[in-house]
Formats: sequence, C-alpha cells, structure tokens
Amino acid sequence: MSGPGARERLGIIAGSAAHQALAGLGLEEDDLSPVETPFGRSSPVGLGQVGGVEVVVAARHGAGEYALAAPFVNYRANLYALKERGVTQVISWSGPGAIDVGLAIGQYVVPEDVLDETRGRADTFFEGTGLGVIRQYPVFCPRLQGVLEVAGRAVGRPVRRGGTYVCTQGPRLETPAEIRKYRMLGADYVGMTLCPEVFLAHELEICYAAILYLTNYAEGLKPAAAEPDRLFGGLMSPEEERAQREAVAALPDLIGAAAGLLSSTREPCRCQSSMERYRRSGRIGSDWRLWMGCASRPPTPS
Ligand SMILES: [Zn+2]
Repeated sequence: MSGPGARERLGIIAGSAAHQALAGLGLEEDDLSPVETPFGRSSPVGLGQVGGVEVVVAARHGAGEYALAAPFVNYRANLYALKERGVTQVISWSGPGAIDVGLAIGQYVVPEDVLDETRGRADTFFEGTGLGVIRQYPVFCPRLQGVLEVAGRAVGRPVRRGGTYVCTQGPRLETPAEIRKYRMLGADYVGMTLCPEVFLAHELEICYAAILYLTNYAEGLKPAAAEPDRLFGGLMSPEEERAQREAVAALPDLIGAAAGLLSSTREPCRCQSSMERYRRSGRIGSDWRLWMGCASRPPTPS
C-alpha cells in the first residue's frame, strides 16, 4: 500500500451527500458494505483511493441520498470498523448550518471545539467498566487540523479554522429559540453528527479532525419561507444549495491533498496515547478489542 503505511492508515467518514463524492475517493456505492461489530452493524465501509493514498471510507448516512439520519447512525460500530481496518487517523466531513450570518455558505471550516447537545446516544465503548475518564482537549487532532488547513490552500479553497460546533440530537432541525440559545453559548455551527463520533475516536486513540462545509443559515437568522417540498423545508436558498453542491464536489480534491501531506509529514500529537494512563497501570493491554469488555463477544471477521 502506498502512503503513510499501515501504522498511519487514513479513514474518511463521509457525511451527507457522500454519494456525490464517492467517485472522487475511488469508490462506487457497490464497493461499500456494512461491517458486523460487537456494537452492531456499521454504516457501509469500503477501501478507496485518494491523492495516491489508500483510504478506508465509511459512508456515515448509509447508501444513497440519506438513508440514515444522524441520531440513528451507529457511531460505535463505525469507529470500531475503522479501527479494525488499521485506521489510526480519521478525517470526517459533514455539512452543518452556520449560526453566524457573516459566514459564507459553501465555506470550508475546521472547527476547534464542540458542544454536545445530543440525548441518549451510545457515546462510550466502556459501558460497565471503570475506563473512559479521558481529557477532551485538544478536542480535535491539531496535526490533522493543520494538514486540512494547508490542503485547503493547496486546492484554492481556503479553510476557516476555529469556532465551536454544537451537536443537536435531530433528526428534526432546530427552533429559532434554540439557535438563539446556542449562539449565546458561543456556538458558530450547528449539526447533528460530530458527537459522539469525536469522543469515540478519543477512546480508540484515533486522531480525528472534522472538515465542515456550511450548508445553510440556521433557523431564524435570515427570512426563509416554509417550503416543505424542498431540502430543509426551504431553509436553504437555491444559491445556497448550489454553493453546497460545489463544496461537496471539491471535497475529494481537498481530502486528496490532505492525504498526500499526511503521507509525507509526521508532526507529533498525543491523540494516539489517550489511554496511556490505563495501559501504564496495567488495566488495559495491547489488544484494544479487550478494553471494552468484548472478550466474551463474538469475534468480528476482519
Ligand atoms: Zn492526533
């Protein structure tokens, strides 16, 4: 395999509109299939190729247009399936709304922080164990964030770095009052997918960073008549839909540039030792599958 080698295999969690960008990752929908894990069935996963580097791709929302809304995604199974395939670093993409009208729709963003407003999602691998007391700073891998920033410049799509993403439960969109609340709390972007995905990556010692493309202005920020026959009920204007489509179409190029950079640079980060305290104390061993009390679970075919 070319690129960073098995030790640094790159995973891509492809978000909404994944089917529009799969070809750019060297994949067709038939190349992806769900993986059975001790935590249930994952979203479709397949081996792709981008920027000359082999990548493992998971289509978060399933096959086709949008088969599985965010609250029903099996985040644990997805991260487990990627880890099992040797993935040590993940770039995840998604298309949240902007809470700041000063931001442009279609703009790429690498967020710095998250607010978790989800409810009842399975958000740890360590149920019923004493593990998982893990610091959440930095929230995202600074090495991957830096690479995404450089990759954006390289493909002529500058990336905005910074800001806070609030993750709502969904599948419904937010009320105007909720958006006002999130703005008061300091959120800049609103979506439904990064939590618990980023926290689960920390538990598996996987480097994780998000690349967002802004799809619309959140509810109540701009006048938008209700149009139930359109995407997001008319919350997106046709111009915004166009900007969003262009951003999705350019994603494989940006990710390809990032994959190329990752294969040639190795800045240090601490993401891959987040469980070190437990390892040092002898509470966990080298086989990560055993960390989560999976010894008695059926083995997963690789
Ligand atoms: Zn890292």
